[in-house]
Amino acid sequence: MPTIPIIAPERLPALLAAMPKAELHIHIEGSLEPEMIFALARRNGVDLPYANVEALRRAYAFTDLQSFLDIYYAGASVLLKEQDFYDMASAYLARAAMDNVVHAEIFFDPQTHTARGVAIDTVIQGLHRACVDARAELGISASLILSFLRHLSEEDAFATLEQALPWMDKFIGVGLDSSELGHPPEKFARVFARCRELGLHVVAHAGEEGPPAYIWGALDVLKAERIDHGVQAVHDAALMRRLAEERIPLTVCPLSNLKLCVFPSLAAHNLPALLEAGLVATVNSDDPAYFGGYINANFIQTFAALPILTARHAWQLAHNSFEASFAPQAEKRAWGDRLQACFEHHASA
Ligand SMILES: [Zn+2]
Repeated sequence: MPTIPIIAPERLPALLAAMPKAELHIHIEGSLEPEMIFALARRNGVDLPYANVEALRRAYAFTDLQSFLDIYYAGASVLLKEQDFYDMASAYLARAAMDNVVHAEIFFDPQTHTARGVAIDTVIQGLHRACVDARAELGISASLILSFLRHLSEEDAFATLEQALPWMDKFIGVGLDSSELGHPPEKFARVFARCRELGLHVVAHAGEEGPPAYIWGALDVLKAERIDHGVQAVHDAALMRRLAEERIPLTVCPLSNLKLCVFPSLAAHNLPALLEAGLVATVNSDDPAYFGGYINANFIQTFAALPILTARHAWQLAHNSFEASFAPQAEKRAWGDRLQACFEHHASA
């Protein structure tokens, strides 16, 4: 770690907001704000089971992952045309750029859409076009990660991969998301092996609600290069050592964990323990429209709830987000330089 300038504690929220960062755990369907859900429902003539924006927002009182997923899939039902996917991703990327995200690796769930009769090319072309335009217009780089729904079968995942093959130049990897408990990584061993053969990056949600055994499975069976969430790793000392030694990043999502009752409060979150153990932990927003905040809200609220976290941790988290990304080394170095300049600015200004 280079020398980190001294930052006064009262300057920490501004620094957290201003520092360049990468977001590596964002489900694009989870960035659909209630206002956009209603606008797209009107545009596409879709009936929603909620009277208005306020009624939909009131339904966002989740008790666990499944209660969230039920509403998440209802919200996604308004996405029908390529322009809908473009508008959704463009709105997220504009919002992310405001939070000084310089690079985003964005999950999309094709099965949520193909099951409703939307063609996978509609999904991928709309999202990809938004990524291309965001680089040109906002200076933010963005890549797509195709995520399989783990509550569905491996056969279904194989069928999705098959449909996506013509568009392989438009996504960089695959992930595994949706209902974790009862759907261990081993269920997807063969489709992930195929994805690795195809040269795709491989990541997986594991250890959000599920046990450390699911993280071992994601590493050993799926050969995941990154673990999404992974916060349950702290219950397994050998696993913690392995994650640290092999520098396997964890994409942690504090406000999501709070909303889905993985931790009783942000003050009880184990992000400090993950960092102290030397893990490549990062901070991300997961499904920001549903969980009460985009990436800067995650940073600022988590640091406010955990005063043990200082500017040194902020630097480490931003640096980790670059290291953990699948971006080219030259870009990572350039973002690292911008990070250092940002810290120096906040120390001296
Ligand atoms: Zn997630």
